[in-house]
Amino acid sequence: MINSHDRQRYSRHLLLGDIGEAGQQQLLRAKVLIVGLGGLGSPVALYLAAAGVGKLIIADGDHLEVSNLQRQILYDTPSAGECKALLAEQRLMALNPDIDLEVIDEALEESDFSSYIPEVDLVLDCSDNLSTRKAINRVCAAEGVPLISAAAIRWEGHLMLFDFRRPETPCYECLYPPSAAEPVLNCSTSGVVGPLLGVLGSLQALEALKLLLGLESDINGKLLVFDGRHHQWQRFAIAKHNQCPVCSGKSQG
Ligand SMILES: [Zn+2]
Repeated sequence: MINSHDRQRYSRHLLLGDIGEAGQQQLLRAKVLIVGLGGLGSPVALYLAAAGVGKLIIADGDHLEVSNLQRQILYDTPSAGECKALLAEQRLMALNPDIDLEVIDEALEESDFSSYIPEVDLVLDCSDNLSTRKAINRVCAAEGVPLISAAAIRWEGHLMLFDFRRPETPCYECLYPPSAAEPVLNCSTSGVVGPLLGVLGSLQALEALKLLLGLESDINGKLLVFDGRHHQWQRFAIAKHNQCPVCSGKSQG
């Protein structure tokens, strides 16, 4: 049973037939890892905390820079120079004091992912570099933990969902094979519009809630590409590579 306090806080969820009290209880029991608390991680963390996802593990090793404030909506100007993970903790606790937060104020490496990821129901990759994305992908695929990944640069955003509980699911490395080098373009050299990260991060949070509620996702194993300049979406099925070093051998037959 949901108590009267939660009934008020989550009343707009309770009105929805496919969430309701049972769905809200599922969210309250869920554990999620959010890697990166920048332009994507900000809306992801805010929406999942607001939604009452019971335990959030939030990780970022950076300190806030003034140049972050154009898009990282968790933070405020007077906090420049402070640790982002600790700032995020304060903001999220103020937003929803009822959830459980575990805060990691350092950049995670593959060995860290191997200890955190098996404990959670879902991982949100909100990081900003290929090596972190690939490390998260490897551990999620190995542990069968779903992964929702996004990226954005200039006016273009990417969204991917990999439900590794399903053996037919491809992985990030099927799309970006081991030989793929770190892209020359990144937000600090090429720029990005702030609301684009809001769009992509909000979609990560939306898909996260659906997944935690057990609702079917239409984008498992898909790459969605958003052109913010001309408002166009494209959707590509990611082919599962039978030579993929991460996920081959995991498919049936
Ligand atoms: Zn793969």
